[in-house]
Amino acid sequence: MSSTAHFNLNLKVLCTEGHLKEALHVLLNTRKFPAHSSTYINLLQACIDKKALSEGKQIHSHINDRGFTFSTHPLLQNKLISMYEKCGSLENARKVLDNMTEPDVSSWNIMITAYRRHGISQGAFALFHRMQQTLVQPDHFTFSTILPVCANLGSLKTGYAQKGVLDEALRLFKEMPQRTVVSWTAIIAGYAQNNLGEKALEAFKLMQLSGEKADSATFASTLPACAKMGALEQGMEIHQKVIESDFLSSVVVLSALIDMYGKCGSIQKARDLFVQMPQRNVVSWNAMIVGYAQNGLGDKALETFKLMQIAGAKPSPSTFASVLPACAKLGALEQGMEIHQNIVKMGYMSEIVWNALIDMYAKCSRIHKARTLFDKIHHPGVISWNAMIAGYAMHGYTKDAVELFEKMKHSGTNPDHVSFVCVFFACSHAGLVDDACKFFNSMSETYSIMPSMDHYVCMVDLLGRVGYLEETVNFIIKIPVKLDVVVWMSLLGACRTHKDIRLGESVATRLFELDPKNPAPFVLLSNIYALAGKWGDAQKVRKLMEEMGIKKIPGCSWIEVHKIVHAFCVGDRSHPQTQAIYTELEKLSWEMKAAGYIPDTKPIFNDVEEEEKELLLCHHSEKLAIAFGLLNTPPGTTIRVVKNLRVCSDCHTSTKFISKIISREIIVRDANRFHHFKYGRCSCEDYW
Ligand code: ZN
Ligand code: ZN
Repeated sequence: MSSTAHFNLNLKVLCTEGHLKEALHVLLNTRKFPAHSSTYINLLQACIDKKALSEGKQIHSHINDRGFTFSTHPLLQNKLISMYEKCGSLENARKVLDNMTEPDVSSWNIMITAYRRHGISQGAFALFHRMQQTLVQPDHFTFSTILPVCANLGSLKTGYAQKGVLDEALRLFKEMPQRTVVSWTAIIAGYAQNNLGEKALEAFKLMQLSGEKADSATFASTLPACAKMGALEQGMEIHQKVIESDFLSSVVVLSALIDMYGKCGSIQKARDLFVQMPQRNVVSWNAMIVGYAQNGLGDKALETFKLMQIAGAKPSPSTFASVLPACAKLGALEQGMEIHQNIVKMGYMSEIVWNALIDMYAKCSRIHKARTLFDKIHHPGVISWNAMIAGYAMHGYTKDAVELFEKMKHSGTNPDHVSFVCVFFACSHAGLVDDACKFFNSMSETYSIMPSMDHYVCMVDLLGRVGYLEETVNFIIKIPVKLDVVVWMSLLGACRTHKDIRLGESVATRLFELDPKNPAPFVLLSNIYALAGKWGDAQKVRKLMEEMGIKKIPGCSWIEVHKIVHAFCVGDRSHPQTQAIYTELEKLSWEMKAAGYIPDTKPIFNDVEEEEKELLLCHHSEKLAIAFGLLNTPPGTTIRVVKNLRVCSDCHTSTKFISKIISREIIVRDANRFHHFKYGRCSCEDYW
């Protein structure tokens, strides 16, 4: 063996045995024998294995000093790129690539992969563009690297125009000589993340037809498309495919299935899968919590969150963003505050978490706390502004809501369509017609926002409430889009408030046709008759409703005591403390009567809850919840109750009396707004 060969072999052995330092020493101190390019490759690989950047750099300059003609050693150049990239110097890797006279497909691939791995999607994409400008043809590896990048980029709002990137991805996909599961999955994910759910499902079907087998990533990318569209049947079909392909043990796939079932309203199926999971990660827990929360099962969402903590799974910011709205909905302030502490402890102060906290405090009647949090944000985004304005609106703090809305505009943040809904809602509670009309006109004129049905409904509600029935009808006539049932409902409500029988009859007839299963128009029309003393007509409507088998939504109220949420339905007798609750109500009823209360026993067909007799009247769900609160909380503390429907006028009157008799503040959040009962008065001034 020649000495040169011996020298190279020696270096190779040192490198493969991991003696990089010795190898480098030998290399730098031997001038007699030249190192082969393959030896340099071995040396560079040793640097990669040890992440030894400075040694790598020394080898690089040694290669340069030797005056290698790189064009004849493409493998060595590519190894250099790899070395720099793997040792953490993307900049140097790129320099090597840029200095290459003829980079081959591998050189480009290494660099594109490097960008992708470092999360620099735009860099990867730009480089891919440059590659296409050269004569080098992308290969299968390039495609499978760049497609997910396109999908990612497409989901980013900034930088590349979304659609352009997706189009590019599609073009590439079609060009691919051989489509693999990776490229199929990338294209499905690209569609799904860009809200093109139908296309995603179509691609999934094409993939099946092509004979390519889906893997766990394919399922996990396709199922969110079903979830977003509420496409339960297609979701179930995919579930079947998951079973056939034996992916039911994959945590990723199962979590995606739970998420899909939850979001498609099939919460029992979601739960069944969740319970059967042999192991769960944070994504599975989140899917279940979101599912419960979105299906109106806030108490189950909170329960699951507790189980998650007991199981030792670490909540993520999206866990908090799902569980806080559940607290908000239930009015579970104590649990919300505990979660707030957890968030602070874990340092999750991202925007979505912060906004969820503002919303939770506002809805749990701690509006000032919400404001304190809001004021701590340096540059509030539109969602934060909206959360705060909505909070004020709900509490009837119209002035604060309008002020904040103006402040938002001056701060340079443009209101979006939600901001306008919030401010109209606020104006509606205080009857600020002029302000609302001014804001309404500014929507399209100043902010180029086309009013949507939500805005029209708000305006109809506002005009109707103050009794401008003719103006309301004129406004409705001018609405350029198809009218929603809610618009008519709103007008019908106004007819009841302002006792307009003729208009009420025609609106109700319209609603019976549009939404025959909805009990509300029957209830409202019957009330309109009853208020006008037309008992016979009121009875007729009631009968008609019964004959048609239409049922009213049962009223339900919640109260949180010692971090447990207790639920009560109308006439509920299922609570362990039932006996005490009813005794307390009876006692209160006597005291109220002594204080001048007269039960509202008019045979009005209440639109709020089932009630026929005086007896039932005092067993409305919020009364049960209030009585339970009185029994289980210290004197003087505030009682907070949340109700799913509007408070009826009798409960409103009774609660005013109760607040005076027991000298405590009672805060009731009904379907529409907050009522702060104190010293026998309510913050809504009997206007709700
Ligand atoms: Zn009531
Ligand atoms: Zn009130």
